[in-house]
Order: sequence, then structure tokens, then C-alpha cells
Amino acid sequence: MNNIEECQVVQDLLQNYSDGVLNEESKKLVENHLKTCSKCQKRLEKIKKDTEPNLQKKEIEYLKKIKRKSDLKTISIILLILFFIVFIYFLRNFIILSTITAKSFDFFDSNNLYKETRQYTGNGNEVIVWKEYYKDSKYKKVTEKYFDDKSEVLMEEYATLNEPKRVNIYPQNNSALVLTGETYSQINSKQNLTHLTEATNEFSIPNRLILSLTSLITIDAKNVGRDYYKIENPFSVKWIDKETGLIIRNYTLFDTVSFYEGTDIIKETNSYMYEFRFSKDTVTDEDVNVPDLSQYNVGYRAEEN
Ligand SMILES: [Zn+2]
Repeated sequence: MNNIEECQVVQDLLQNYSDGVLNEESKKLVENHLKTCSKCQKRLEKIKKDTEPNLQKKEIEYLKKIKRKSDLKTISIILLILFFIVFIYFLRNFIILSTITAKSFDFFDSNNLYKETRQYTGNGNEVIVWKEYYKDSKYKKVTEKYFDDKSEVLMEEYATLNEPKRVNIYPQNNSALVLTGETYSQINSKQNLTHLTEATNEFSIPNRLILSLTSLITIDAKNVGRDYYKIENPFSVKWIDKETGLIIRNYTLFDTVSFYEGTDIIKETNSYMYEFRFSKDTVTDEDVNVPDLSQYNVGYRAEEN
């Protein structure tokens, strides 16, 4: 080979030489040629210059890929942990609500029950109070109004379990109304009378599921002096007695409520707010017996079919 031919051959091999993939024989040939040929030396330097950044680029891309993969892994783990925390919190709420519900059902399984519902109307210190009594199939509901130091009974309602009859008394105008008809048998059902109307805290399963996800449930004892669950969601706040599972208080988040310091007595509220008291075995026969109606102007209304 003359020099020019050799240059040709070596130049063909230079890329592979630079990449380090030549066999021993070719490598020796290239190296020997390079010792004497400055033209090929320059070429090799150029090839090396061109190749180095390429290699670096590849390396960077490879590292980036690994980083992306590990980022994805980190994000997945964080998401998984978050999901797990939410799930545990959901489970905890659901168990609390289920326990409360079971306890409150236990309470209503009795033949002697009392419930008081107080509604703060936001109109000065006006409070409307409903007192419900149940004893051995007999029921009475009294509606009272408190304002300043005054109080008045607005209405008394009497019923007997499954009986097609209701007696309403209006003390203010000294009158009474006796209502009869099959509808009242249904109204005077076991559930209606012993659960003492609505607004207990018997959470249905769908309700429990929704509340578990949307509510913040904390334990507090402020203002009441005994432990209660405070169930807050974007719409309302409920206080549930921890021991009995019964509702203590219920108001919407738009209400402002303030208490006399260190007490559970409401000082001010801007809107409707409900408070509840329950007791067992405190109702007497006198509480639920229909009084002598001869002192009232009695009206009778029979339901027409
Ligand atoms: Zn050469």
C-alpha cells in the first residue's frame, strides 16, 4: 500500500478505532499509521470531538430516563400513602357513625322515653321547645315558647300507639280538637311514637357513607362537660353524645353561635339552631294521660274517606 491508499484504509477504520471496537490487527495498523500521518491524526481528533458530546448526550438522556422513572415511582408511592390515609380516615368515620347509630337505636328500644327539642329562632332570646313523652303505648307532645322571662304552652298533642285518634289542646284559647280517622293509626305507629319524631341521629347506611367521606369528626367536651363527637361537613355541625349516641346539638355552618363562658348555655345565635335532651324512665302516667276535656271548648273532626 502506498501512503495515500493506506490513508484511505485508515480513515475508513478511524470511527471504529475511536469507538474502541477494532480487532488487534487493525488497531495496530491504525496506530502505526497515525505515528507518521498528521492528516489522519487530525481526522481522529475531529472524530473524537464529534463523538464525545454525543456520548455525553446519550448519558444525560439515560440518566433523565432513570430519574423520570424514579419520580414516577415516588409519586405513585405518595399517592398510595395518601389514598391509604384517606381510606383509614373514612373507615374510622364509618365505624364511629355506625357505633353511634347502634347506640341510639338501643336507646329507643324502650317503653319509657323522653325527648326535648329546643329551637333557637334567632329572634332575640326566643326559644321554641317541644317536649315529647312516651310511656307504655301512650304519647304526648307539648309545644312551648320562651321569650325573655315569659313562657307559654302553644299546644299539647296526645296519641296512643296504633289508635285512629289524636287529641290536640290549645291552652291559650281554651280549646281542644279531637281528630279521628284511619290515617292516625299510621301516624301513631311504633316508629313515629317511640323514635319521638325526626332529628335523632339514626344515620342510614348511604348517609353514613357520604358523611364518612365529607365530614370531619372530632371528639370534644367543651360547653357540655362530657365527651361528644363533633361531626362537621360543608353544610352542618352535629354534636353527638359519645356515651349514648344521641344527638345534642345541630346547626348549619352559616349560623353563628356563642355561649356564656364555661357553660353550654347559648348566649346568641343568628339563626335556627337545635338542641336535644333525652332521658329514659323519667316519664310518669300523669305525663301521658289525656286530661279532662270538659274544661275546654271541644271540637271534633272525623276524617272522611
Ligand atoms: Zn494517513
